[in-house]
Amino acid sequence: MTQHTTAFTNLGLSAPVLAAVAGAGYDTPTPIQGKAIPAVLSGRDVVGLAQTGSGKTAAFVLPLIDQLLAEKKQAPGKTARALILAPTRELAAQIAESVNTYAAGSNLTCTVIFGGVKPGPQIRAMARGVDILVATPGRLLDHASTGALRLDHTRRVILDEADQMLDLGFMPAIRKILKQLGSPRQTVMFSATMPAPIRKLADEFLKNPITIAATPPSRPVERIAQAVLYVNAADKPDTLVDLMSKEVGRKVIVFTRTKRGADRVAKRLAQYGHGVNAIHGNKSQGQRERALAAFKEGKAPVLVATDIAARGIDVEGIDLVVNYELPNVPESYVHRIGRTARAGADGRAVALCAPDERKLLKDIVKLTGIEPKSLNDAPPMPKGDAAKPAGAGKPKRRRNRRGGGGQSGQRQRRAA
Ligand code: AMP
Repeated sequence: MTQHTTAFTNLGLSAPVLAAVAGAGYDTPTPIQGKAIPAVLSGRDVVGLAQTGSGKTAAFVLPLIDQLLAEKKQAPGKTARALILAPTRELAAQIAESVNTYAAGSNLTCTVIFGGVKPGPQIRAMARGVDILVATPGRLLDHASTGALRLDHTRRVILDEADQMLDLGFMPAIRKILKQLGSPRQTVMFSATMPAPIRKLADEFLKNPITIAATPPSRPVERIAQAVLYVNAADKPDTLVDLMSKEVGRKVIVFTRTKRGADRVAKRLAQYGHGVNAIHGNKSQGQRERALAAFKEGKAPVLVATDIAARGIDVEGIDLVVNYELPNVPESYVHRIGRTARAGADGRAVALCAPDERKLLKDIVKLTGIEPKSLNDAPPMPKGDAAKPAGAGKPKRRRNRRGGGGQSGQRQRRAA
């Protein structure tokens, strides 16, 4: 992880939180932590832009814990003092895990609620009132509408992956939730990417916010070796099998655009002997949790996912992210490849790009400013595109002779 000159002790955090930080094994704040912790502690609204894997979660959870401890209040029954909203169940669960780690030495309570599981235990957990509630928007509104939870005591709210939370799908729910919160409130938004139109929407909910960016937003971590393999759509299944034959035993996430596509790809890889699961919105919560656990533990080292798994999930040691299909939204690409190279590790990403996806790739390059390295011996570049090697032949290439993954020489080092 990039070092920052500030020490945790200079950020204004109280002794119990500093002890939790030391307990988590962190020596030095990451750049976003160095900037965000004092900003959040000041009580002002904050917009934090930081790359995925940059230590964002602690950047908002640590000061929040400090603030709640300082207030010395108790949450009345069926209320929450602070709310952290996340777009996916997996991310909500992961944030709650971090909260529990960082709040371990205090008596603060944390509950996580999301859809796909029985509401009963969640209702019981909220009955006594909680300090920090981590939630996905849909289930939160369900509980608010049945009276299992009132939001008017919540005066601190954090939106993680804020750009997605303010996007069309979530916006109505977010509006409803924010309307019900107590006043005055502190609103904190964190995101790896924040396109201008979304920022405009965000400003509706923010009062005189401090904006901080640890690194230029929308740039994937420089440590990721990005590559592209130009193939025809019909050749993708075979190309993927080829590619994956060189990755046996490594942790790989393969992203597809559709749920059905994810199932198809997973099935095919299983036929070729890979330990693989698919994870997407049509899977039950139990299936999703089991798939993620098997992936984390390396029991099923290949995970085929739709964008649901693209955000926030922090799994150690993901060697390769494969974009089986390019996402329609360039920001999603940044989130997807951000699954690798987390917490200081190197990583690789390969995109399979069919002729009708060239435009999507161009948009990605425009956003990131980084041109993925072509793995084709003879890249079938359309007219006008750069990097066409002299004597480039027909686009018919299925095999990646450079060794599946496009790593440059120095990136080839791997754990034996
Ligand atoms: P995040 O961006 O919040 O998903 O965090 C990415 C990873 O960095 C997590 O595994 C954290 O445990 C880890 N991390 C967060 N802050 C620090 C720090 N100051 N020093 C070392 N690791 C950290």
